[in-house]
Amino acid sequence: MMKDSATVVIVGSGMGGSTLAWGLARRGIDVLVLERGDYLPRERENWSPEAVFVERRYKPNETWVDDAGVEFSPGVHYLVGGNTKVYGASLPRLRERDFERTEYPGGISPAWPFSYADLESYYSQAESLYRVHGTTGEDPTEPWRSQPYPYPALDHESYVQETVRRLEEQGLHPSRTSMGVDLQPGGGCIRCSTCDGFPCRLGAKSDAETCALGPALMGGSVRLLTGVRIDRIETGVGDRVVSLLGDCRGEPCEFTGGSFVLAGGAVNSAVILLRSTSDRWPNGVANSTDLVGRNYMVHNNTHIAAIDPRRSNDVVFQKTVAINDYYHDLGDGIPGGTIQLIGKVQGSMMKTHATRAPLAVLNRMAGRSIEWLVMTEDTPTLDNRVRINSNGRIQVSWQRRNYDRHELLLGKAKAMLKQAGYALVFEQRFGIDMNSHMCGTAVAGLDPATSVLDGHCRSHEIANLLVVDSSFFPSSGAQNPALTIGAQALRVAAEADWN
Ligand SMILES: Cc1cc2nc3c(=O)[nH]c(=O)nc-3n(C[C@H](O)[C@H](O)[C@H](O)COP(=O)(O)OP(=O)(O)OC[C@H]3O[C@@H](n4cnc5c(N)ncnc54)[C@H](O)[C@@H]3O)c2cc1C
Repeated sequence: MMKDSATVVIVGSGMGGSTLAWGLARRGIDVLVLERGDYLPRERENWSPEAVFVERRYKPNETWVDDAGVEFSPGVHYLVGGNTKVYGASLPRLRERDFERTEYPGGISPAWPFSYADLESYYSQAESLYRVHGTTGEDPTEPWRSQPYPYPALDHESYVQETVRRLEEQGLHPSRTSMGVDLQPGGGCIRCSTCDGFPCRLGAKSDAETCALGPALMGGSVRLLTGVRIDRIETGVGDRVVSLLGDCRGEPCEFTGGSFVLAGGAVNSAVILLRSTSDRWPNGVANSTDLVGRNYMVHNNTHIAAIDPRRSNDVVFQKTVAINDYYHDLGDGIPGGTIQLIGKVQGSMMKTHATRAPLAVLNRMAGRSIEWLVMTEDTPTLDNRVRINSNGRIQVSWQRRNYDRHELLLGKAKAMLKQAGYALVFEQRFGIDMNSHMCGTAVAGLDPATSVLDGHCRSHEIANLLVVDSSFFPSSGAQNPALTIGAQALRVAAEADWN
């Protein structure tokens, strides 16, 4: 059996795991990162819509099941860098109020065990680490900041600028998006059309491997083993983790250490805990409360393609606008969410959804469309959950929550686009398989009876076990999650006791 050991053993090298490793490297702590995937190769297919979206070249050949037993292909990528290798690198902060309790007609968004102020300096650090480009003074909901953005915002291309003008005429405040790309003198970013959803062939997207794990490995105290899937946690006397067991390219493996951190993503971290049953832990490790796997959230998301038949869209890098006018108030005093441009969609990408439409028609549509993401908050419930079913498979129980807010914001978005000259608006609502913003399966909180982790992501029940990925989110907010995952990882690295 292959064996290894380190002071801190981290499972998973995505946003949470890699950023934590970087933070621990700064403290000179001996870290071993275990990643089930391999390095993503830099190759021609990185920028091929067919390879990425139709053939799903970088996705695992893995399915999960819903409550009815229907299989779906989840939004996960088992790679060094995790989901950030293909993410859209939109890296906004949550707003101050996202850390506080909000009552919606359709559910409660609970308070976090720490405030925006507690995370603020780590947001600044994460923005530096992930080369975030942004600006202040444009977004009426922007939270306060102690440091300016490290890099200036990306300007709109002319087609987008004209759309912004039409939206401003309606009294809206389109702001430039916070983006993590290496766009600076000497930087590698060329503002191409294959950023959002694609791997970057130039290494110029601010993903977790490029910005955090790679530099951490250079420091000498961090090591990485790829092809290692952790399946089980072994505990011993005094309710401490003693080892992690798994599979290394077909061979069993075991890892010992001082502290153990799960960062496998919200579903896989919960699955490791749930699979680790024993006489002491019949519901799985650190799960006396039966809360692990529950409170699974995604965002309520819809993609919109808006077409103005009179204007062809020649944009290359489209993802430069966020509209947050309805974030705190949809006109009825209750929060709505965000409306953002996404990367320019090409005809072949539309084909994954509109399977029967001829490619030539989709290409013509894509040439005149602009694409948006409408995102509102999902609220937690014990019934939305991840579990291991009787066949040993990963089962996700998920019903849409707080969806009235989504319908309202979607209505506002469509009306806004119609008024801006977009006669045709098509929508694609996200289903159970479009769960790349998954979070909440091991929520952090002050009360051990109602949460799995404390405010520094440490298990309430097992002192040397932490979960540092999106699992800890007590609520989902309605902004893209990755910067918050990274900021919290830096906070945990700096403030937690690692002895
Ligand atoms: C197409 C796409 C676009 C996105 N765009 C954005 C965006 O613009 N902005 C934003 O904020 N967010 C975006 N996201 C979401 C963002 O990528 C995730 O929120 C973030 O990466 C989650 O971080 P994590 O650490 O929780 O998990 P991940 O980043 O998914 O990392 C988990 C890691 O753990 C590994 N792992 C899992 N199980 C095991 C195991 N048993 N043993 C060993 N290793 C394991 C995985 O291989 C993976 O490397 C996007 C996601 C996708 C898929």
